[in-house]
Amino acid sequence: MITLVKDNATVDHAVEGDTVQLILDRTPFYAEMGGQVADTGELSNSDVKLAVTDVQHAPNGQNLHTCVVKQGHLAIGDSLNAQIDVKARLAIQKNHTATHLLDQALKDVLGSHVNQAGSYVAADRLRFDFSHYGQVTDEELQQIEAIVNEKIWEQLPVTTKEMPIDEAKKLGAVALFGEKYGKVVRVVSAGDYSIELCGGCHVANTAELGLFTLVSESGIGAGTRRIEALTGEAAFKRLNAVKLQAKAIATSLKVTPDQLPERIDGLQQQIKDLEKENTALMNKLGSAKTGELEQSAKKNGDVAYIAEKIDSVDMNQLRAMADDLKNKLKSVIVVLASVEDGKVHFVAGVTKDLIQKGFHAGKIVKEVAAICGGGGGGRPDMAQAGGKQPEKVRDALDAVSDLIEKAAVR
Ligand SMILES: [Zn+2]
Repeated sequence: MITLVKDNATVDHAVEGDTVQLILDRTPFYAEMGGQVADTGELSNSDVKLAVTDVQHAPNGQNLHTCVVKQGHLAIGDSLNAQIDVKARLAIQKNHTATHLLDQALKDVLGSHVNQAGSYVAADRLRFDFSHYGQVTDEELQQIEAIVNEKIWEQLPVTTKEMPIDEAKKLGAVALFGEKYGKVVRVVSAGDYSIELCGGCHVANTAELGLFTLVSESGIGAGTRRIEALTGEAAFKRLNAVKLQAKAIATSLKVTPDQLPERIDGLQQQIKDLEKENTALMNKLGSAKTGELEQSAKKNGDVAYIAEKIDSVDMNQLRAMADDLKNKLKSVIVVLASVEDGKVHFVAGVTKDLIQKGFHAGKIVKEVAAICGGGGGGRPDMAQAGGKQPEKVRDALDAVSDLIEKAAVR
C-alpha cells in the first residue's frame, strides 16, 4: 500500500473502525466508470482486515479504494491481499454484457437513430438510457427482449481487443456520442452481433447471462427513454415470483393460471350484472319507502308536511324520493334526511301551490341544516344541504312543523 488517507489528509496508520482511502501499487478492484459500479471486497493480511465499499479513479488515474478497518491495525507500507467479491463481479459482468446486447437489439428493432444516453450496471440490476422519440410499443419491447435472449442461446464468445481507433471505426464499433477516445481503443465484441468501444468488465460468452428479462421501460425526458432489466439469477427470481403470484391468484379464484383471463372476464361480467340488479332493487326499495313516507304525512293547519330520516341512501336517492312524494301528494312540504359517513344530507321540496303561498324549500333546508351545524340552500321547489352533527337529525326534523308556522321560511 503506497498512500493512506483519512479525513482528507494523508496519515501513516489507521485502527479498527476508521474509514480510510488508500492506493495500492497493483489492484484487481474495478473503479466505477462508464456506468459500471465499483467492485467491493476485502483487503487483508495477518494483522488487519478491511472491507472495500467503493473504488473511484483518483485525479492521476490511480484507483482510490474506500475501506472500513474491520479489525486490527494498518500502517503505511503494509502488504495486503486483495479479494474482490467474485459473485457480485460475475453478476456485474453479466449485466454489462447485457447492456451491449440490448443496445444492438434496440437499434435492430427501433432504428439506427438509437444511441446510448447513459447506463448503470450493478450486480443486482441494469439500467440503460437511450435516445428515441415516441413510445416503445409492447410488441417492440417483446421483440427486443426476445433478441437479447436469442443472443444468449447462440452462445456468442465475448472478446476484448485493443486497436487503433481508425481500425475500430472500420469494424463499425459503436462509440458513445460526445465521448473523447484516445488513439488506441478497447473494443468489446459479442460474436459479430455487437461491437462496442468499452473499458468495462464482461463475461467470456453470452451463454453465461442465462436469462434476460425487461423490468420496465419509460420516458425520462424529451427524446430519452429508460429500460431496466435483469439477467441470470435475478431474472429467474423475478420471473418465478410472477409465476408464483399468478398461481396464488388462480388458486384464490379456484382455476388454473391458464384459465385466469377467462375467469376474470367472467367476474367482470358478474359485477356488471350485479350492479344492474342492485340499481333495480334500490329503485324498488325507494318506491316502497316512498309509499311508507306517504303515510307519515302530518298537517300543520292546512299545510301537509313530511319530515323523516331514511337510512342508507345518498343525496341523489333523497332527491328522487322527495320528487316522488311531491308528485304523489300534489300539495306537501317534504324534508328528508340521511346520514352517510358521519355527515347529514338534507333535501327539502315544496309543491307549486305551497310556493305560491310563500313557502321556500331553500329557506327551509337552510334552517334545518343549521340545527345540525351545517348549511345549504337552493330553489323554492327543491333544495339540499349538509350537516355535521348526525345526533341532532331528529331535533332538526322535529323543527319542521314550527318552521312552517314561522314567517322565516315563507
Ligand atoms: Zn460497455
